[in-house]
Amino acid sequence: MGRKRSTSAQNRPIRRRASQPRIVVVGSANADLVLAVAHRPAAGETIVSADVVVMPGGKGGNQAVAAAKLGGDVAFIGCVGADAPGAMLRERLVAAGVDVRGLRSIAAPSGQAVILVTPDGENSIIVSPGANAQVSTALVAEVADLWLGADVLVVQLEIPLETVEHVVPRAHARGTRVIVNAAPAAALPAAVLAASDPLVVNETEAEAALAARTGQPRPGVAAADGGPGATALDLLALGARSVVLTLGAGGAVLVERGADGAAGTPLHVPAHPVAAVDTTGAGDAFVGALAVELCAGSGLEAAVRRATQVAAFAVGRRGAQASYPTRADLVIN
Ligand code: ATP
Repeated sequence: MGRKRSTSAQNRPIRRRASQPRIVVVGSANADLVLAVAHRPAAGETIVSADVVVMPGGKGGNQAVAAAKLGGDVAFIGCVGADAPGAMLRERLVAAGVDVRGLRSIAAPSGQAVILVTPDGENSIIVSPGANAQVSTALVAEVADLWLGADVLVVQLEIPLETVEHVVPRAHARGTRVIVNAAPAAALPAAVLAASDPLVVNETEAEAALAARTGQPRPGVAAADGGPGATALDLLALGARSVVLTLGAGGAVLVERGADGAAGTPLHVPAHPVAAVDTTGAGDAFVGALAVELCAGSGLEAAVRRATQVAAFAVGRRGAQASYPTRADLVIN
């Protein structure tokens, strides 16, 4: 993908400096200890893993790498420890072509995750945030030149919420398109929701976001009256500018507002059929691809269609970042 700016970007009043990346991801980076197991251990049970590998991960790092591998002009803002996992995480971002001027190595352990992968391709994850907890408002303010005025900003919730609250409204006010991936599940402040375009959640996160607003537990997305389309509309009603609800092998549902601000009709985009090998990081591949497509000027529907293609490619291969495609892998140009 070239560096030509989209029509909407050209119309913006803010001029981007030549040194400024077009897509900026503010988020987490973790070293993932991935264990292949026959089943998840029950309380008190010890099981054997036939295979163990350490891989770069964390939603922010994954999304930055996914976007960069697709040819996006991407910077990552975050923190790793001044330790061996931190060196590995930095090296992998650099190798993918991500700008790491906003990545700090600090006196804290790097974020780490233990991921159990079962033969059905599903995963269970335990995360220790470590250095990710130090991605502070002070840090993002220090590197504001990187993200203020970017074309697309991507955030998730594995860093302090106050940092998300700092960058999202400011970026939006400067004309940046903001993708808010509300993962892991958390209640979002109104100012963050109002700038989310789209808000991206999976089914669990959707239920949590809606339950947080009403104070009432909800039935699962599939069981809710009206199914995923109705859930997407409920999410939009929280105040987001647009919503993408991902449904695993069920694909995704998107809904946008019309020019008058009224909710449009939810649209279902089916998943690409693939034999699931490892779903770890599929959602991050999806978000990274969404960022690249929206940055290139695509509409939300076209961006979601491409994101489902990219995520399916990732589901068909082991690991998170290692499973992400380049444009050549997808036979697109
Ligand atoms: P994860 O936490 O596993 O990274 P997630 O829970 O954030 O993912 P999902 O809704 O499970 O998000 O998946 C995101 C997208 O990945 C889906 O919208 C779909 O396009 C694709 N995807 C996930 N699982 C499959 C699958 N089994 N087959 C094809 N596509 C899939």
